[in-house]
Amino acid sequence: METMTPATKVWTRETGMTEKRDVWRSIKRGFRGRCPRCGDGKLFRAFLKVDNNCSVCGLDFTPHRADDLPAYLVIVIVGHIVVPTALIIETDYSPPVWLQLSIYLPLTLILSLALLQPVKGAVVGMQWALKMHGFDDNPPEGIPPV
Ligand SMILES: [Zn+2]
Repeated sequence: METMTPATKVWTRETGMTEKRDVWRSIKRGFRGRCPRCGDGKLFRAFLKVDNNCSVCGLDFTPHRADDLPAYLVIVIVGHIVVPTALIIETDYSPPVWLQLSIYLPLTLILSLALLQPVKGAVVGMQWALKMHGFDDNPPEGIPPV
């Protein structure tokens, strides 16, 4: 009776040579809603729905795990814009509360909606560039994809 052994991956110069993934370029491409690898294909098929693969180069986008990180980053970014603005205007001009609320609430909503898709694209681009989750071409043996 013959026993089956799993195929082992042997590191060679060829297997060690993988495509170069520039992190900042991938983040910028994702921020623009483009494929982090080719920069031409669309990353999203809906507002926050990442497409299954790139229409130009065929890169599989399904291994991304952006989860809640884009929302947290948008909260941090918008908070660092709106809160100092509100504090400066309040200390310098002290406008009535109804006027402040009529400016800050829509501003917060518009900034959040405007930044959510680009930030999610940037997170997906970063994950691809850093070979996180299933984006690695040569994943280590024995570790199931998340
Ligand atoms: Zn592509």
